[in-house]
This record gives sequence, structure tokens and C-alpha cells, in this order.
Amino acid sequence: MFTKQYERGRTFVAKLDYQSDLLEELNKICCEKYINAGYIQVIGAVSSLKYGFYDQNTKEYIYNTYAYDESLEIVSCSGNVSVKDGKPFCHVHIVASDKKGKCVGGHLAAGTSVFAAEVVIQEILGEDLIRELDETTKLTLWK
Ligand code: ZN
Repeated sequence: MFTKQYERGRTFVAKLDYQSDLLEELNKICCEKYINAGYIQVIGAVSSLKYGFYDQNTKEYIYNTYAYDESLEIVSCSGNVSVKDGKPFCHVHIVASDKKGKCVGGHLAAGTSVFAAEVVIQEILGEDLIRELDETTKLTLWK
């Protein structure tokens, strides 16, 4: 275990475009604004959802696609920003509900289409927060 201390930096809000890719847009914002560490919150709705589940036995992501005729509500979508392969990287999880309130969720993947999305990204300032391959989990985790 480790802990690191950070100070609050800039706060960004963004309204994403209809049918843009949710994860790609978050990564784009962080690259364009040079946000190397921070946290993310998103509310809104998606018209399709792609999310992953990390199989701890096979150490591979299983991806699920949830496409629906109507938009899904983003019940909760949060994540963090750190540096992977030398550039800002957003790690984001999402829970979304259908019209009956049934929820699905997991590790947000590229391929999720925005219906409407309001984003807040809080930059944090301090020591570099860098991801590297963790031999035990085979995930790229903070070092
Ligand atoms: Zn994840």
C-alpha cells in the first residue's frame, strides 16, 4: 500500500456531443488540458454501453455491449486520471439503468455512445501518478 498527497488543481466541466464516444472524449479532454492526475464524474445518458469485467482467473477483460432502443440513464460514472504509456489515461467505471431501473455496469470501454453527458474533471496536483504493469494482477496499476 502507499498513499500520496495532492492539492486541488483546475476544475473542468464539459458537455459532450451527441453520439460521441464517452471514454474517448474523456481521454481527449485530459490530453488537451494536460491533466495528468485527477478524478472524474459524469451524469447523463448513453444510447449504447460497452463495459468490461476483469476475469481475475484468466486475467483478461470480458467485454459486454448493451445496446437499447432508448437511452440508458447514467446512474453513476466515476473514475480517475493518471499517466499510462506517457500520456493521460482515464480509468472509469459506469452504472447505467434502463427504463425499469435495471442496472448494468462495469469498467467503461470505448464504444459507448453519448446521448447527453455532463462531465466534471477535477485535476489534482502533486507527485506523478503513473500506471505500470502489476505482475500479480496483470493490470496496469499505480506505482
Ligand atoms: Zn476498471
